[in-house]
Amino acid sequence: MSLLKKLEQTFFNNQAMHPWPGLIEAYRDWLPVTDKTPIITLQEGATPLIPTKSISERIGREIKVFVKYDGLNPTGSFKDRGMTMAISKAKEAGSEAVICASTGNTSASAAAYARRGGIKAFVLIPDGYVAQGKLAQALVYGAEVLAIRGNFDKALDIVRELSNKFPVTLVNSVNPFRLQGQKTAAFEIIDYLGEAPDWLCIPMGNAGNISAYWMGFEEYFQAGKSKKLPRMMGFQASGSAPLVFNKVIENPNTIATAIRIGNPVNKEKAIAAKKKSNGDFKDVTDEEIINAYKILGKEEGIFCEPASAASVAGLLKHKEKIPNGSTVVCVLTGNGLKDPDCAINNNEAKFYKDLDPEIKTVAKAMGL
Ligand SMILES: *Cc1c(COP(=O)(O)O)cnc(C)c1O
Repeated sequence: MSLLKKLEQTFFNNQAMHPWPGLIEAYRDWLPVTDKTPIITLQEGATPLIPTKSISERIGREIKVFVKYDGLNPTGSFKDRGMTMAISKAKEAGSEAVICASTGNTSASAAAYARRGGIKAFVLIPDGYVAQGKLAQALVYGAEVLAIRGNFDKALDIVRELSNKFPVTLVNSVNPFRLQGQKTAAFEIIDYLGEAPDWLCIPMGNAGNISAYWMGFEEYFQAGKSKKLPRMMGFQASGSAPLVFNKVIENPNTIATAIRIGNPVNKEKAIAAKKKSNGDFKDVTDEEIINAYKILGKEEGIFCEPASAASVAGLLKHKEKIPNGSTVVCVLTGNGLKDPDCAINNNEAKFYKDLDPEIKTVAKAMGL
């Protein structure tokens, strides 16, 4: 055998070099797919679970804090977990077009997976309230983007109606396959830690993700893969907290546009998860969200979008309640690059502009 052949074999036999097949193949036995399902994947899932020292230290006791960085999925948010399932099943059913309402990430993800599957994607967005990165994605992935003068809740009403009247598949989180795909994040956490965490902190918008995580934790628990179930701690922005204040919010408002939702469709499922897990729903202010966002960025090197930072903001706000020795996982739902405006406007970086292109000037600005 030639040396090259030998090297090639070692390389490809190395387990670490085997590509992750995407979450449907990885968790096939746990998902409603068959041999006939065409798998539309961008190899989503297997996102890192990162220990965060600066957050643990702020809590100040023997408490381990990890973040599940789902912003590292192919389109930059956890929505890809649900979309690989929703689009694969839509394709299996012979659908030629999908539609969704979106605060941004659902549209980016739906567009990417639909186009990969050769399906048309229509996305309805609230005009002016979608972060730039997300809009850019939907456009580049070839969706037909429809911006309405109205908020997310209104957009969702319209797409629900449209999908009843016309042959387009709805891929918002009312689509049950979305939650099936999203539950795999809970599997990954248990597969990695060897046990469920004590607390799961998660931002809530339509509350599909918290419901999906709970489904995943329960399924693994029932199968004996974990011995405990986490407390589900759901966080909303104060200006957009229907589940915390237990009422529909007509005009939700927050810097965290991904969770700017006043009437969550998965309300009942989320409330059931809270009750069964002895969890809690709390609100965090935009200021607390931005504070957590900055800590993650400048102390941990983790850039998430503001909605995602609500999970860490909530943890820090309620840290007194965590028993000593606990393991906590905060879900970071989306990538910081999605919302560059928020980043540029909310940081404490030293940014010297308009410098003369000379060593002397630059060195002086550096404090040398
Ligand atoms: C969609 C989204 C959420 C909210 O998830 P729900 O399932 O609607 O509760 C939170 N953060 C980001 C970044 C999102 O894209």
